[in-house]
Amino acid sequence: PHRNDYRDTWVEVDLEAIANNIKAVKTLQGKDVTVMAVVKADGYGHGSVEVAQKAIEAGAEFLGVALLEEAVELRDAGIQETPILVLGRVNPQDARIAQQYNISVTVFQIEWVLEAKKHIACDERLDIHIKCDTGMGRIGLTEEHTLLELLTIIRSENALNLMGIYTHLATADEWETEYLDKQLEYFQAFVDLAKKTTGSIPYIHYSNSAASLRYPGHNYNMIRFGISMYGLVPAIDTAPDIPVSLEPALSLHSRLVHVKKVKPSTSISYGATYQASQEEWIGTVPIGYGDGWLRKNAENRGEVLVAGERCPMVGRICMDQMMIKLPREVPIGTKVTLIGSQGHQEIKVEEVAERLSTITYEVPCTLNSRIPRFYQ
Ligand code: PLP
Repeated sequence: PHRNDYRDTWVEVDLEAIANNIKAVKTLQGKDVTVMAVVKADGYGHGSVEVAQKAIEAGAEFLGVALLEEAVELRDAGIQETPILVLGRVNPQDARIAQQYNISVTVFQIEWVLEAKKHIACDERLDIHIKCDTGMGRIGLTEEHTLLELLTIIRSENALNLMGIYTHLATADEWETEYLDKQLEYFQAFVDLAKKTTGSIPYIHYSNSAASLRYPGHNYNMIRFGISMYGLVPAIDTAPDIPVSLEPALSLHSRLVHVKKVKPSTSISYGATYQASQEEWIGTVPIGYGDGWLRKNAENRGEVLVAGERCPMVGRICMDQMMIKLPREVPIGTKVTLIGSQGHQEIKVEEVAERLSTITYEVPCTLNSRIPRFYQ
């Protein structure tokens, strides 16, 4: 197999942190609530298989992904027993694949079930979670008659097994709760109708990380726990409302490949936008936007850590390299921490997200597969 770790830039994933975050949410929720560990998008950039295995060990009893291929990857990696739900829409032509791999699918369209029926084996089970759109405006049914019609078709087909009903919240990470309350009310009506029509439903769920942590005890019997399993807050301004101390799992590091003293007014990088104001020590770090380390990181002098001190990125970030201003001469090979701690200093994903005017989610997801992941 080819290696992608000759280079001196890497991500470290602390799997114990992931286990601790799961245990913390489980303690908060109590034992009647099942934790679905959401590992879509390669485990939010942390590595889906490694995270899923650790999450299961720590007590997660369900996995959530966005795509059928993400679910198949987990099954192929040997995760056989734990149920997996695909949260996105699977093509109905691929329903047989879901069946063969014992993967649960999300259903919300009449046409979908009618088409899927043509492709599945009638003597094998296909587990279904019905998705209601109660205000997210993304996928899901919005009308009670669609729910009733779906339930009728599902009941008439032996292979189709109703395993759950769920919705997704649009504003669970905000201070204002009016919109969230409306979504819940809308969802409760769907749940009542479904129960009245079919009896009990094994899994009823709507909570993401924000709702699980901020409103424990109001989560029916399953939570879909994503961003905070990785130790990150769903939103920076409502972070004080999170009742547990989350442990961040991901850190990002590199090593200096070049160190030089430059004369006053020497320019650095494309566009010559940075000029040394005096004699300065400049270091070159082998990471760039080709790794998902976006150019915007260097705007407004975003910082990295070297020898336990904060150093600004200077000049434009290139595809594979960038430059930083060092406080003094340091040896080639010195560790540079872009996300994580050195000594008493820490640069959190939250700091990087604010620097990029984005949300915590986007930061680990953007670091691409050119950066090798190592697990502790
Ligand atoms: N459920 C669904 C349908 C999602 O799309 C996501 C992620 O965006 C989650 C749950 C997990 O949300 P979070 O990462 O905020 O916990």
